[in-house]
Amino acid sequence: MNRTNIVVNLNEPLVFEQSAPGKSAYSLPPLDVEEVALDQIVDPKLIRSDIPGFPEISEVELIRHYTRLSTWNYHVDLGLYPLGSCTMKYNPKLNERVARIPGLATVHPLLNAPLAQGNLKILYRLQELLKEITGMAGVTLQPAAGSQGELTGILMVRAYHAARNKPRKYVLIPDSAHGTNPASATISGYEVKAIPSDQTGQIDLTSLKEKMSDEVACLMLTNPNTLGIFESRIQEIGRIVHEAGALLYMDGANFNALLGQTRPGDMGIDVLHLNLHKTFSTPHGGGGPGSGPVACQESLIPFLPVPIVAKDGDKFRLDFDRPQTIGRLHAFFGNFGMMVRALAYILSCGGDGLKQISETAVLNANYIRKRLADHYDLPYDTPSLHEVVFSDKRQERQGVKTLDIAKRLIDLGFHPPTVYFPLIVHGALMIEPTESAGKGELDEFIEAMIQIHRETVEEPAKVTGAPTSAKVARLDETRAARTPVLRWKARGKDEEKDEG
Ligand SMILES: *Cc1c(COP(=O)(O)O)cnc(C)c1O
Repeated sequence: MNRTNIVVNLNEPLVFEQSAPGKSAYSLPPLDVEEVALDQIVDPKLIRSDIPGFPEISEVELIRHYTRLSTWNYHVDLGLYPLGSCTMKYNPKLNERVARIPGLATVHPLLNAPLAQGNLKILYRLQELLKEITGMAGVTLQPAAGSQGELTGILMVRAYHAARNKPRKYVLIPDSAHGTNPASATISGYEVKAIPSDQTGQIDLTSLKEKMSDEVACLMLTNPNTLGIFESRIQEIGRIVHEAGALLYMDGANFNALLGQTRPGDMGIDVLHLNLHKTFSTPHGGGGPGSGPVACQESLIPFLPVPIVAKDGDKFRLDFDRPQTIGRLHAFFGNFGMMVRALAYILSCGGDGLKQISETAVLNANYIRKRLADHYDLPYDTPSLHEVVFSDKRQERQGVKTLDIAKRLIDLGFHPPTVYFPLIVHGALMIEPTESAGKGELDEFIEAMIQIHRETVEEPAKVTGAPTSAKVARLDETRAARTPVLRWKARGKDEEKDEG
């Protein structure tokens, strides 16, 4: 099937350019009651007579304009979105239905606990299910993202050492870690020491032993790590860490690989975060709202953020009376709507369903790995779980780099995978199909990747010149991030000065 040209029209003018004086998006019959002038209700000083450049447009033009614009966006409802480490799985519509139930969607967060029992029960059930899924003793649902979960977890580690009057100085982090790990440790007041990976792609145990000391607060380990490789010596790692009096933090963003198979609590992990917007199918949105619950062992429970949802008999309440807490990380309870969706997901999958998710996610990634291994370089031959990382080593000889491959995929109708991460792989292409993709779609993606490899050899300009089907081809990504121009200004006297 040809998936190219999924975009309807790339030459959509701005809504301002479709404007013409006198067009209107509504028309009503003339008033048959007495008209009350606006300046009789509102202070005339506050009334604008004109909004410069305000577009005038008909309803049908307006609807078509935004509907066409929406087709420019690649999203999980459109096709495979194989961004490694991001777990861009399908967001079931059932979750959306549940989250829109009025008592859940419109309840005020300041409502007294006795009047919000159902809502608290939802939080409590999710809390308890996440304990069971992770094998941990305590959970907070408060953090709004994985990275905020890391911050929460490391602040708890800090409070744990402080409570023993043994504050420590360092956090050890493998060189394959997500950039948020060192950021969270640094914001928490620690110095970061990097641990290299060995030739199997796992953490180097010799280096870990060398760097471990009574000055180390914790090791932050991603498992499976960002190469998709399970740290199979996790118990030994736990021993090394605990013998030095340090704690073991697990970045659980890649939990989709482990769901229902094994539990961090059984591996000697002290504290971890999960991403509801990855493993538990809640939407990532345009940067949020996410949800990054933190689970911990008994020894860290006193330091969890407040409030915790507690249950007395059959009544639920918010427990603020926790003298050793690290405090609040988020207003109210965190992103409640995400928790509703995650609970709906867990309950609709059931225990066996959760297990099937990780099995299928791992199978899908390994299918891609196997079928692309003849065309793309695999920097590590250690078996991988839910994602596979290739390098651009073979294509680079023809002058084609990872970025070119990613851009060419756009022309072929797919969202590119994660690129240039993890940093330890030269020109990394990190592919995570998730369990949402069926075999047909995986095959189409694989064919597209093989086609790009073939083009690299036969007509590399096609790849290095990609994309040709997108509205914008190759952005200056640094400038786009650092000096974004997000405002459109009406053409007028400022025109010459305004780049936007
Ligand atoms: C996504 C991710 C994070 C950060 O999660 P956010 O919700 O984006 O803040 C941290 N670590 C790993 C390994 C991740 O994949």
